Amino acid sequence: MHRILLLPGDGIGPEVVAEARRVLGRAGERFGLDLTFEEGLIGGAALDATGSPLPEETLERARSCRAVLLGAVGGPKWDALPVDVRPEKGLLRIRKELGLFANLRPATVFPALVGASTLRPEVVRGIDLLVVRELTGGIYFGEPRGREQRDGRRRAFNAMVYDEEEIARIARVAFRAAAGRRGHLTHVHKANVLEVSQLWVEVVSEVAREFPEVELAHQLVDSCAMLLVREPRRFDVLLTGNLFGDILSDEAAMITGSLGMLPSASLGESGVGLFEPVHGSAPDLAGRDEANPLATILSGAMLLEHSLGAPEAAGAVRQAVARVLEAGARTRDLLLPGEERPVLGCRAMGEQVLRELPA
Ligand code: NAD
Repeated sequence: MHRILLLPGDGIGPEVVAEARRVLGRAGERFGLDLTFEEGLIGGAALDATGSPLPEETLERARSCRAVLLGAVGGPKWDALPVDVRPEKGLLRIRKELGLFANLRPATVFPALVGASTLRPEVVRGIDLLVVRELTGGIYFGEPRGREQRDGRRRAFNAMVYDEEEIARIARVAFRAAAGRRGHLTHVHKANVLEVSQLWVEVVSEVAREFPEVELAHQLVDSCAMLLVREPRRFDVLLTGNLFGDILSDEAAMITGSLGMLPSASLGESGVGLFEPVHGSAPDLAGRDEANPLATILSGAMLLEHSLGAPEAAGAVRQAVARVLEAGARTRDLLLPGEERPVLGCRAMGEQVLRELPA
């Protein structure tokens, strides 16, 4: 039996998680996976009910489950609160407590949505890449850090620090992902300037010997940023540190054009994975049955693949999403300017995906 913890959170979170749950449940039945679902509190919903954005009970259940599927947290109701009791703190803390050091963000263009990108269709068609970003080290966490006054001037500093073990473990995640895809891994770095990047090149090349089936290339981050908009189809898996990954994963995502379509996974040493859409809680849409549930449904597909080792079930969910889009189903956010089509609500879109899953 696989226990899955659902953390709907705030805003549109509960609506999109409900649809992903239905799809996961159905995929579980079809593919003989014994799934059970539990629900917990996080974010503003948890703050209101318990005074904490991440109650101990939620954390304990997350630790004992196979995987966590999260909606989104935050909203105007809690914006005036001090930073350490804001809903977002719940999300940061659960990532830290579960030791989630690897962030996986696919950027895939579904054929039916080629027109949603700001890039030309011939550049965009067929994009299917995965950014693997180190999430718990690098310049966002390095010491020393701070501000000071020196010679009458304000000064500030941060340190980019990685040790070889931190690099090797994220590299293994990326190599494994590449081995299950098209077998190409591009390591993105700035080794012409940074000693930290030189160590990354060394360690990633060493880890590559464990994965002879994967072809490794090293690419400077500046030229990678250019190639991503010029020739994005050339990439399969991109592996990079926290800072470059933060920027490149957003760049890659925007090539695809639709925030409501982007899933993500965070994996760690504990074995519990956290899966969530890239978008936020969209308070403007909350409670209106207008949100696009596909990013969360596709996060569910990642859960099937990475936490339950069920790539066929994951593939079936992705194909169901592709077919629904091909048939013309759209939530409002997916309409192109001037496009006239009937618009589906969140629940109806979930229903369409359910119908397309194999019988
Ligand atoms: P957002 O992603 O919530 O919304 C940005 C825009 O995209 C809005 O116009 C929204 O309507 C639209 N949108 C987002 N998801 C959509 C979906 N599934 N279907 C249709 N349209 C969708 O970002 P924001 O407005 O900057 O932030 C709103 C709240 O969400 C804030 O409180 C923020 O802190 C929080 N937030 C949470 C997360 C998270 O939980 N991981 C991430 C980002 C923002």
